[in-house]
Amino acid sequence: MAPHYANAKLVERGVCWRMVSRDDGYRKGSPTGCPEPVRWTGNAMIGKKRYRLDSCEGHADQLENVRRRV
Ligand SMILES: [Zn+2]
Repeated sequence: MAPHYANAKLVERGVCWRMVSRDDGYRKGSPTGCPEPVRWTGNAMIGKKRYRLDSCEGHADQLENVRRRV
């Protein structure tokens, strides 16, 4: 369970860092990793640690030092 899923973030490389609510009719509203392909990489503070994160096209707005992933 992830009680604060709106603030949950994925620090796994190679997938978008944001979590989104599923809306596929199967587990509606439960958080899951963003399914969009990774387009950007950048830095973000999570708690007191700075992470290097990957992001899809639409979720890079809260990252710092964003660069296009190649
Ligand atoms: Zn995303």
